[in-house]
Amino acid sequence: MTDGEACQRALRERLSRVRERVAAAAARSGRDQSAVRIVAVTKGHPHGVVGAALAEGLADLGENRVEELAEKASRFEGRGVRWHMIGHVQSRKAGGAGRHAALIHSVDSIRLAGKLSRLGEAEGRRVPVLVQVNTSGEAAKWGFPEAEALDGIAAVAGLGGLRVLGLMTMAPFTSDARTLRGTFQRTRLLLEAAAGMHGLEGRELSMGMSNDFEIAIEEGSTMVRLGTTLFGERPR
Ligand SMILES: *Cc1c(COP(=O)(O)O)cnc(C)c1O
Repeated sequence: MTDGEACQRALRERLSRVRERVAAAAARSGRDQSAVRIVAVTKGHPHGVVGAALAEGLADLGENRVEELAEKASRFEGRGVRWHMIGHVQSRKAGGAGRHAALIHSVDSIRLAGKLSRLGEAEGRRVPVLVQVNTSGEAAKWGFPEAEALDGIAAVAGLGGLRVLGLMTMAPFTSDARTLRGTFQRTRLLLEAAAGMHGLEGRELSMGMSNDFEIAIEEGSTMVRLGTTLFGERPR
């Protein structure tokens, strides 16, 4: 038994359990599990983990740093990976994120949105993004503060070089189910309030991580970003 095989088998078991939990949570919100996409967060993990994920049919992979995204995207070029940029992107790194990511979840400022839009316009395409909103009530989190979110979404959706497909949020670091649920609910209500906006083309809700994804799905998540629950703890 090689490490590779052990890693593959562990992932297979965890993934099957995660899929059951996704399906059950989707059923509780009256949806099919196919309405919820699993974005497997490979950040901090070596290439072997990416290979194992691909071998299990996970094609949506998430990274939170532009350098690591670019490096892994080059390494796995031609393997059909849809890379998701889920972490904060500094404006000066917008180009790297825009080039490698199939979807940028973390558009959290007009400045970054503007840079990505200009990149899209220069390349004759529209860069797919989500607008990150801070519905956690935590000052330290990235994203448009809730009170400014509708204006922010309108401004981002109005940019010609972007395809705005929905919203993303990060819940506070807590195990309190009511607090988590409230964060996800407020995000869904924001999307509903924004629904008719010019330029908002999708109804995606990127919400839920390893410790809160079932609540997020019950509240309407269409994309869960799962790292630890699939791959175990990240190496230091
Ligand atoms: C790391 C990360 C995740 C995955 O976190 P886990 O708790 O390991 O599932 C999800 N979303 C974002 C934005 C992250 O940075």
